[in-house]
Amino acid sequence: MLKIDNDIKLDFDDVLLVPQRSYAASRKEVNLKRNFKFYWSDKEWHGVPLMAANMDTTGTFNMGISLNNHEAITCLHKYYSSDAIEGYYKYYNVESNVWVSIGMDVEHELERLFKIEDNTSIQPNICIDIANGYTEKFIDYCAKVRLEFPNSIIMAGNVATPEMVSELILHGEVDIVKVGIGPGSACTTRLKAGVGYPQLSAIAECSHVAHGLRSDTGRLGLICADGGCRYPADVAKAYAAGADFVMLGGMLAGTEECEGEWIKYADTHEKKSLVFYGMSSKKAQEKHGDGLLSYRSSEGRVKEIPYKGKAELVVNDILGGVRSACAYTGATSLKDFSKTARFVRVNRTHNDLSVEEV
Ligand code: 5GP
Repeated sequence: MLKIDNDIKLDFDDVLLVPQRSYAASRKEVNLKRNFKFYWSDKEWHGVPLMAANMDTTGTFNMGISLNNHEAITCLHKYYSSDAIEGYYKYYNVESNVWVSIGMDVEHELERLFKIEDNTSIQPNICIDIANGYTEKFIDYCAKVRLEFPNSIIMAGNVATPEMVSELILHGEVDIVKVGIGPGSACTTRLKAGVGYPQLSAIAECSHVAHGLRSDTGRLGLICADGGCRYPADVAKAYAAGADFVMLGGMLAGTEECEGEWIKYADTHEKKSLVFYGMSSKKAQEKHGDGLLSYRSSEGRVKEIPYKGKAELVVNDILGGVRSACAYTGATSLKDFSKTARFVRVNRTHNDLSVEEV
């Protein structure tokens, strides 16, 4: 017999937000800033809870500067040396919005963080990122990082189900759980392994559990919705479903602030497109490691993303969409959005008749 959950689980494309009568006058008046306290860290964070993914193309120093102008966060990719990060922190006052990412290579990663702390006197905010957050060792590893960095805001993932969210917060001592298995634009986990969880339901179920956890001082667990946003509307739906933060890879890929392989026009030498790839793709593993290890399948793809100009343009478009979503659904602030938002299930989200096809 199949062990199967027959409840329907939803993705961004399965729903729309229902317009509601409201007193929120205009979208200009919608406040997208959040003020967060954290379950473990005593720091407070104030800003727009959007994040650039710690992929080596998008999690860059320049992205950090650009998103910091919007009071949004960039998780640096883990291939920057501690020296480079120290220099960056000393030169730019961005450390509350530019976070350091680490993987599971315990000795090496902690060494990097200690060096940054020693040389800058900053306890950096940390993104602990592994492809599969379900391994037993992961919880212990997160707790070990917490022991060494008691005051850092620590985010860890990825997972997609509530029981791992509470494990990571309560026993891994992380503040924010990163949620998303398989929805990423450069991800092929669902094709290679057949594993995943529809992202909108993952966000709703995981945030419900995180927000139900309360520290001794009354502070809640938080989640970051990671992966699967292709349009501003998807970002709005993620917040409406309960995401505290939303992380973006593909939407920011191709902006001026990205690093990597640019394809240029032969005649003008202007940027045409960026080679964008999943961090576990063969390409990323060849670039940073020893090539694709034979026992691991490549669960990331490579694509070319057209040049989009400055990240600011993309971010403004997203924030405009989220403001509009709040105004339509009766929320005057992002904080209230998930409380006012109501979804409807649909068969079609939009009219995709394109002018070229007429
Ligand atoms: P996007 O915003 O592009 O849809 O998703 C970005 C997220 O995809 C990243 O933050 C990361 O969690 C995930 N991701 C990045 N590279 C890979 C990969 O190679 N394989 C998988 N499974 N996920 C990836």
